[in-house]
Amino acid sequence: MQKARQLLKKLYGYSEFRLHQAEVIQTLLQGGDAMVLMPTGGGKSLCYQIPAMLRPGTGVIVSPLIALMQDQVLALQQLGINAAYLNSSQSGAESGEVEQAFLSGRLDLLYIAPERLLTERMLRLLEKAAIALFAIDEAHCVSQWGHDFRPEYQQLGILPQRFPGVPRVALTATADLATRREIIEQLQLQQASVYVNSFNRPNIHYSINTGQQLRQQLWEFIRSEHAQDAGIVYCLSRKKVEAIAQWLATKGRVALPYHAGLSTQQRQLHQQRFLREDGVIIVATIAFGMGIDKPDVRFVAHLNLPKSIEAYYQETGRAGRDGEPANAWLGYGLQDVITLGQMIRSGEGNDRYKRIAGQKLDAMIGLCESNTCRRQALLAYFSESFSAPCGRCDNCVSPPQTWDATVAAQKALSCVYRCGQRFGVNYLIDILRGKRDQRIINNGHDMLSTFGVGQELDVAEWRAVFRQLIVRGYVQVDMESYNVLRLTDKARPLLRNQEKLVLRRLERGRKTVAGKTKPKAPDKLSATQSALFKVLKKLRLELAQQQNLPAYRVFHDTVLLQMAVRQPVNREQMLALHGVGEKKLERYGESFLHAVKDYLLSSDAGA
Ligand code: ADP
Ligand code: ZN
Repeated sequence: MQKARQLLKKLYGYSEFRLHQAEVIQTLLQGGDAMVLMPTGGGKSLCYQIPAMLRPGTGVIVSPLIALMQDQVLALQQLGINAAYLNSSQSGAESGEVEQAFLSGRLDLLYIAPERLLTERMLRLLEKAAIALFAIDEAHCVSQWGHDFRPEYQQLGILPQRFPGVPRVALTATADLATRREIIEQLQLQQASVYVNSFNRPNIHYSINTGQQLRQQLWEFIRSEHAQDAGIVYCLSRKKVEAIAQWLATKGRVALPYHAGLSTQQRQLHQQRFLREDGVIIVATIAFGMGIDKPDVRFVAHLNLPKSIEAYYQETGRAGRDGEPANAWLGYGLQDVITLGQMIRSGEGNDRYKRIAGQKLDAMIGLCESNTCRRQALLAYFSESFSAPCGRCDNCVSPPQTWDATVAAQKALSCVYRCGQRFGVNYLIDILRGKRDQRIINNGHDMLSTFGVGQELDVAEWRAVFRQLIVRGYVQVDMESYNVLRLTDKARPLLRNQEKLVLRRLERGRKTVAGKTKPKAPDKLSATQSALFKVLKKLRLELAQQQNLPAYRVFHDTVLLQMAVRQPVNREQMLALHGVGEKKLERYGESFLHAVKDYLLSSDAGA
């Protein structure tokens, strides 16, 4: 372990291990298996990188996304670690070279996509040289009920037979109890030591919004909170992705679409720009994001309802990896509830699959509709208790208003019934509000006792009532006919006045975001320090561009901030900064020392 600590300082520039890192490393060094559940940004990579370097042989990392292997390998090379990858993006000659390097024992780390690893040829090749360990990244991909299911992951259970005695570690940032069990079972990790960190992401502020004009609400949020920040906006369909990206562009933001309908080149280009330029917004379907390790994504917004809490947690988890404040903003409406429910019920998969998918969606909707702390609800889903309300979510900051909606609900339900349970929400609301529409008159529905009895609420308020009636199971959306509502058995006692119903009030202009979420540090700098910070950022950008790297690969903002404050003038002082290892010192130390000294000598730094 002493050697592990030395590597931590020498290569990465850190002096302490984070929670569970040391234990995982120790387990692997002793030849044991491990399963690691840590939230995004928790520091999973070190858990396999360090033991891979310390054990004889090469550490083999199974990673699901080709595009990102390259990025990770580049980052490791920056630290002076011998890392390479094998995937289908390479030419035969290139992969031949990597294979040679592996066979001759020159590699510390080798990244491979699961489908490549599982070929007989690859397995044979791996048997020819020493393997330090297998790391299975994004291990939740093994779950067929999950949103990132990769069938090949399920075959990784053969590794212990083919490579007995080689320690294995599975890592993920999302896994409810059922998924954890699946990972253990499918990957044959019954003997593994399990390390679970808290899933709480204290720097993320959660807010979930409903109502109409969600786009407008979203813009209000971006404009006021994230005028210059990088962020991700998730939408359900490609069409909507394109439309929202264009719309944000008209607002003056650099907003780039990302979805499966674009060419690979286009997608890569947009991803690169997001990683490398400042303040780019990516508008994407869920095809985007796994493995994105950009540390300074300041917000993740959803303009659709995620299909499960796992998906929501993982997507929002891409915000604020650097530990600085970040926002998760979600907007959804009645139509999302209807559409997603129908998609699941009429979609592919057997009944069991649909049932589980339906339950997961219900849990997500439950989170959205709840009146209590979002963080508590989110963590409870991962079987973790969080003792007090967090004070950093919309419901904590501005508790939702509720109202006695018994009478309104009775009107709505009896309207569904009197129309013969054959109509959708918009039509029903027209009747309640007494609209003399030709279709209503033709159907004779202007003669119904419920016609015009609901003038006291406007259309948006009625939609909120119907949404909550659906979500709470008083009415059901018909499976075959589009949008048609039917009563369920649960509706009867309410209609008979045997129970009361309290609903959440429709919020208009509710303050849901907790103040400014900008990283605080730069504000605290003195004028001199912040001028120096700017100089250092400029230098970082130049160095990054020369190497065609994202700026954060040179140094994170947090490192530059320390430089601006502590103003190191020699190598020892530079090396003492958190996040500066020997390789980085060698590579960039002189340039930055020079910049600091120059600055201190210049007249600006008189203060
Ligand atoms: P994960 O894969 O769990 O999302 P990473 O392994 O990418 O997280 O680590 C997140 C960030 O934390 C990285 O910038 C990494 O360098 C940093 N980090 C990891 N371990 C430590 C540590 N012991 N001390 C300080 N920073 C660390
Ligand atoms: Zn809260």
